[in-house]
Amino acid sequence: MRKLIVAGNWKMNTSVADGVELAKKISAYAEQKNLPAGKEIVIAPPFTHLASVAAAINPNKVILAAQDCAATTNGAYTGEVSASMLKGIGVKAVILGHSERRQYFKENSEILLKKIKLALAEGLDVIFCIGETKEQREAGANLYNNVIKAQLVDTVFTLTADEFKKIIIAYEPVWAIGTGLTATPEQAQEIHEMIRKAIADNFGKAVADDTTILYGGSCKASNAAEIFAKKDVDGGLIGGASLKADDFGKIIDAR
Ligand code: PEP
Repeated sequence: MRKLIVAGNWKMNTSVADGVELAKKISAYAEQKNLPAGKEIVIAPPFTHLASVAAAINPNKVILAAQDCAATTNGAYTGEVSASMLKGIGVKAVILGHSERRQYFKENSEILLKKIKLALAEGLDVIFCIGETKEQREAGANLYNNVIKAQLVDTVFTLTADEFKKIIIAYEPVWAIGTGLTATPEQAQEIHEMIRKAIADNFGKAVADDTTILYGGSCKASNAAEIFAKKDVDGGLIGGASLKADDFGKIIDAR
């Protein structure tokens, strides 16, 4: 079902104690707002925080997500955290394909597809991030549209339509992440529309109309409303501005 989602990606920030406090404030905010059906709040704290945060939030009001999961099932993979382990502590969703994972940890489509399938097999929703770099944007629309489409074709477009229904797409232009540069509402809409059309071409219009497509990249309280007002933008994946409950609350209220 197409939803309106505001998701906070905390990245590698906050102590466990501070993270639990932040999560409690967001949960209390969600309870007090009594959000309409179809509007959801997601938070993605670091792995170390997940169990404590799971115990601190109202799971009916805030969806707990992880920022990554392993590309393998349990076993001899030192340092990894599997999708089944995440599920076991109350995690409901996972962010995959974030540009920081692609850039710093060399995650490519092949690895990401393995992660996606394992997450789906555990019943987790997947927030799948795609987007072009600054150089790709500057090379022109033909190139960046093809880059974004390829990120879909090589991964989530190989799923069945039923599997794809558990995928939330996050369009995150890499040049806008953590840079203070934001896509204009028109730039965001142009890409979201292109993504929805690509989904329609692959899975049919009904699936495309039902897909939630988030925008991410320096989205904050001051610009969220105009971006979220665009017809193909179904909310946001928020980094820096999700670390302060007040700011995150204003973004939740933006639409
Ligand atoms: C992100 O990392 O997903 C993100 C959108 O970050 P920021 O909002 O800080 O640009």
